[in-house]
Amino acid sequence: MGITKDYELGDIVEMKKKHPCYLSDTFTIIRMGADIKIKCNGCGRSIMLERMKFEKGLKKVVGHTDVKE
Ligand SMILES: [Zn+2]
Repeated sequence: MGITKDYELGDIVEMKKKHPCYLSDTFTIIRMGADIKIKCNGCGRSIMLERMKFEKGLKKVVGHTDVKE
């Protein structure tokens, strides 16, 4: 059985790999398209990931916040 990971814009997510700054365990999804852009909730830097790579690296969704595109 496959696990479907549900996520949307504004979700706060935990990734398998932490951001190298180690200031936070979580990221916020700030843009969704062919690529997913996430922002580190520690240092505020953003990272662009291919959707597939994002889904592979996603551990879990831990919350939600409002994000303006
Ligand atoms: Zn960071």
